[in-house]
Amino acid sequence: MRDRLGRNIDYLRISVTDRCNLRCVYCMPEEGVAWMPHRDILTYEQVTQVVEAAALLGVRHVRLTGGEPLVRPQLEHLVEQLKGVEGIETVTLTTNGVLLAQQLPKLRQAGLDGVNISLDTLDPQQFAAITRRDMLSQALEGLEAARNTPGLTVKVNCVPTQYNRDQIAPLAGLAQHQDLSVRFIEMMPIGLGREGNGLTHAQVMEQLEQAYGRPIPCEAPRGAGPSEYLTFSGFVGRIGLISAVSHQFCHLCNRVRLTASGFLKTCLQYDTGISIKPYLEKGCPGEVLYKAMEQAIYEKPVSHHFSTVAQAGDEASNMNQIGG
Ligand code: SAM
Ligand code: SF4
Repeated sequence: MRDRLGRNIDYLRISVTDRCNLRCVYCMPEEGVAWMPHRDILTYEQVTQVVEAAALLGVRHVRLTGGEPLVRPQLEHLVEQLKGVEGIETVTLTTNGVLLAQQLPKLRQAGLDGVNISLDTLDPQQFAAITRRDMLSQALEGLEAARNTPGLTVKVNCVPTQYNRDQIAPLAGLAQHQDLSVRFIEMMPIGLGREGNGLTHAQVMEQLEQAYGRPIPCEAPRGAGPSEYLTFSGFVGRIGLISAVSHQFCHLCNRVRLTASGFLKTCLQYDTGISIKPYLEKGCPGEVLYKAMEQAIYEKPVSHHFSTVAQAGDEASNMNQIGG
């Protein structure tokens, strides 16, 4: 569907849990996290109901995220249900990769189309410092399993910060001999990301040019969203730069989010949207749910204001509660 600004909303990011097996410094506090009670979290059946209404509204692509989506048991059942919803073309996953190797065969069999693996460093000590868990080898096994799965779209996502500045070139190097996209995503001032340790697009480019020479613009892969893609001489894969802060692309935004507790969130930065859960619990007819979602999406905010001071109505949650 089109929102009031004429943007075509065809992408839904669904957070299936706020729990996680890592504690990335820019995403979650080390301790004292107040988890959502299990009773507040949508069941797979409820998520499917929302996706059915979303598909009628024109959503074609769904991404499962979290927290860490793979800590929720039997995620393949949800993948299978969502793949069966009429109108849904792709179901993909964003994961830290730690549990991916063991779960990927079942997820792929259920119809999973792609995975984005969040990986900020290839250095084990740095990984442990950034994520507060010593689990790089498991994350790399997940990446390897994804790369060895025929037909699966694989992207690596890195948030460049002062902690992993020296890893920008090695991470980009994953695309040198492999047909995958390595994307650098500017830190956004949401939750702990407000502490401001992120590197800018320009700082990332400086590192990349030093290591690999002059960038060559290239076409974005399927379903890439608003990012700039480039490659380097001798590279098989691509590098993506997603600069939501330095290059605002809200006029191209095509997405809304569903939190684990059933809030349809219409912009990453604001707490605007609608709580869907009461509609599901009351057993409202699909048409009522459809109308409520249609109204909320129509009213989607014009743009974020990442570069200016905080305002009333800004999102107060951490990224693990929203889904990134
Ligand atoms: N646990 C999964 C993972 O890490 O891929 C999925 C959820 S995580 C919240 C989704 C993405 O959000 C990750 O790639 C993470 O690096 C990114 N992220 C977290 N906080 C961020 C921030 N403040 N700015 C930009 N990206 C952020
Ligand atoms: Fe967990 Fe992903 Fe947040 Fe890291 S970025 S703490 S892996 S939810």
